[in-house]
Amino acid sequence: MLPYASIHDAATSIGRPLTAAETFWFNYSATKSDYFLYCHNILFLFLIFTLVPLFYVFIDLFFSKHFIAYKIQPKVKSSVSDYLNCYRDVMRSFLLIVGPLQLVSYPSIQMIGIRTSLPLPSLMEIASQLFVYFLVEDFTNYWIHRFLHGKWGYEKIHKVHHEYTTPIGYAAPYAHWAEVLILGIPSFLGPAMVPGHMITFWLWIALRQIEAIETHSGYDLPWTLTKFIPFYGGADYHDYHHYVGGQSQSNFASVFTYCDYIYGTDKGYRYQKKVLRQLRDGLKSEGKPNDGSHASAQGIKSD
Ligand SMILES: [Zn+2]
Ligand SMILES: [Zn+2]
Repeated sequence: MLPYASIHDAATSIGRPLTAAETFWFNYSATKSDYFLYCHNILFLFLIFTLVPLFYVFIDLFFSKHFIAYKIQPKVKSSVSDYLNCYRDVMRSFLLIVGPLQLVSYPSIQMIGIRTSLPLPSLMEIASQLFVYFLVEDFTNYWIHRFLHGKWGYEKIHKVHHEYTTPIGYAAPYAHWAEVLILGIPSFLGPAMVPGHMITFWLWIALRQIEAIETHSGYDLPWTLTKFIPFYGGADYHDYHHYVGGQSQSNFASVFTYCDYIYGTDKGYRYQKKVLRQLRDGLKSEGKPNDGSHASAQGIKSD
């Protein structure tokens, strides 16, 4: 709830007239509690989990012929019931874990100092904070994910997420309840280290989930904006992690590739890419087609 009685009070308080965005924020949030504003994340996550994967489902179900060149495991076909079952499981976890976690975690947001007040942060402030959040999350997630690939972590918790050896967008948040809770920590650490505005926090939660859905989409589309981000892993990178499955000791990072490179856990992936390139070049010179997928590398050694 904003501590100003009117727009005039708000302008006096910050020492200048409100921008259009700040006026909009004032009108929207002035009478709403901070707790209620924080709980908007529940609605955003519901909409993202429901709507964003639909784009990839439509491609897969209705336009697969046109997009086959970008499908990472083109020999595997998901059915309508596969998608519905995955969505049902994700919604169950959403209702029982993700939603309630949002409802009870507000004190931690208050403690670290996420603000709802004016002035609004500049675009540069939002972008630089999001950058830090992604870096911190990626590094922390790398080590937690790597730990979950130990014998105990995998058998007890992480193998649920790996039921999908061919990922689909809806499977991005599909995981054991303990993993959903544990992976909340890396998402929280960035905002705890560099607390920002509630709008930045909303954006962070939304962008991280949209990124995870793209990464699990099963399609490596060439025109996505993420292609311009240096050291970005993307769908092909994480798909390989699922394709190799429980034995995977490769591609642990959730967003970028630098952790796997530094700690030497991308050797299998890079070796496979090199062999595929050679295979493709060889087939090209013989005039034969090749789908370039992980699946075409079956039998090729990975770590
Ligand atoms: Zn894994
Ligand atoms: Zn995954």
